[in-house]
Amino acid sequence: MERQTRSMQRAAGRRRGERTASDEQLDLAAVAGRNLTAITAAPTSFEIVNAAYGRQTGDQLVDAIDDRLSGALIEFRSAAVRSGATFTIVVAGDAQVGDAAVDAVERALEHPFAIGNETILLGARIGVARMSGDEPLEHLLRRAAEALAHARSSEGATTRIAADGTGVPLAALAADLHRAIERHEIDVRFQPQVNLIDGRIVGVEALARWHHPRLGEVGAETLLAAADRAGLGVALSDHVQALALRRAVEWPDALSRMRVAVNVTATDLSRTPFVSRFLARVHEAGIAPGRVTAEVTEGAMIDNLHAAGTALAALRAAGCRVALDDFGTGYSSLSYVATLPLDYLKIDRSLTQAAVGDARNRVVLQGVLGIAEGLGLETVAEGVETDAQRLMLAARGCTLYQGFLCAGPLDDAGLIELVRAADAKGEQAWR
Ligand code: C2E
Ligand code: CA
Ligand code: CA
Repeated sequence: MERQTRSMQRAAGRRRGERTASDEQLDLAAVAGRNLTAITAAPTSFEIVNAAYGRQTGDQLVDAIDDRLSGALIEFRSAAVRSGATFTIVVAGDAQVGDAAVDAVERALEHPFAIGNETILLGARIGVARMSGDEPLEHLLRRAAEALAHARSSEGATTRIAADGTGVPLAALAADLHRAIERHEIDVRFQPQVNLIDGRIVGVEALARWHHPRLGEVGAETLLAAADRAGLGVALSDHVQALALRRAVEWPDALSRMRVAVNVTATDLSRTPFVSRFLARVHEAGIAPGRVTAEVTEGAMIDNLHAAGTALAALRAAGCRVALDDFGTGYSSLSYVATLPLDYLKIDRSLTQAAVGDARNRVVLQGVLGIAEGLGLETVAEGVETDAQRLMLAARGCTLYQGFLCAGPLDDAGLIELVRAADAKGEQAWR
């Protein structure tokens, strides 16, 4: 890693939200050629560090990671760049060299960091892609980023190697997607959100699925990546949101008050006029705005916090609610929670699950729940898979959960049946 570039990145990274070119461009002079490995690495639950130790420590930690990675890669011909707390590294050399670099990155991140008086042990997720054929660099980087996304959403393995260019061809998927919407191949599933006090299903999150004619069911992450690639992100969002809201209107009486949460992307939010388009979709579906929640990630708001805040306030003024999604991932801080007009804080699966086994993570979770309560926000814990997790969350004042313990994403019939069965059980309990 080249010194000057790094210090420039560092200055840029410190002032979060003020991204500059140096933060996003890769100096590739050192790694020309076709024999490249791309590695993206991100600490897990970075926000936990920010919440537990403060932003300054978080910034120092990113700098320390930066130093450690550059030390680890000094023997390699490499270029690196960082965006927030995510590092992207390109290494020149054959596959063996690439593997050695991945090893070096893994080893660099597995030891604790000493920042001030604190000793911080980080987890990290790593995505790796190896250049194949005459693949453009941009494509290689995208595959590494996708591998990181997979590593983030999977249990266990922390390093993911992307299939080579001959694996799942995103370009082909992107081409297929052009017709998928018209052909009704894009569908939504609904995952229940459960009240932690009385066990009632009070709402659902709508999650996109693609029934691909040849490949079978394609998951949300791949679908979204293909849509971005095809320039169809906005069309897909419109379609999925409208579909989810229309479906919810058709549910039987027993579900007629069920809340419906739809995901809103950074692109959706930055597109004007976001608010009137969103509300038009609500209106067209004929659903009461009071049943609708927009789920937004912090990442979607970094570029223009003020505009995002205004948009979210307008949705709330119209009766919709707003959830901050995936809290506990990425580079973020509690100050967002205090500033933005929100109703729910969704606690990411990584934090929910870490808190069961580990006392320090439990303290952080407790802190997050306490702050949410103090600000009058409801909390939705994601990725709840066991009774132990559910009980731990309930005891700490978390209000709702979502996870396989109740159900994964369901089709309409599955959801209706589940709610009916739960209601029947509730009635029996009364008698
Ligand atoms: P998310 O918003 O955090 O959604 C929750 C994801 O976690 C879903 O994956 C869900 O199936 C999975 N999940 C739920 N409960 C559990 C659990 O107990 N354990 C584990 N291990 N996983 C659980 P899915 O459907 O693959 O969605 C992945 C991500 O893709 C979503 O994360 C969301 O960010 C995005 N996404 C999904 N559908 C849409 C959509 O319609 N529009 C947009 N913009 N994004 C979407
Ligand atoms: Ca979500
Ligand atoms: Ca989430």
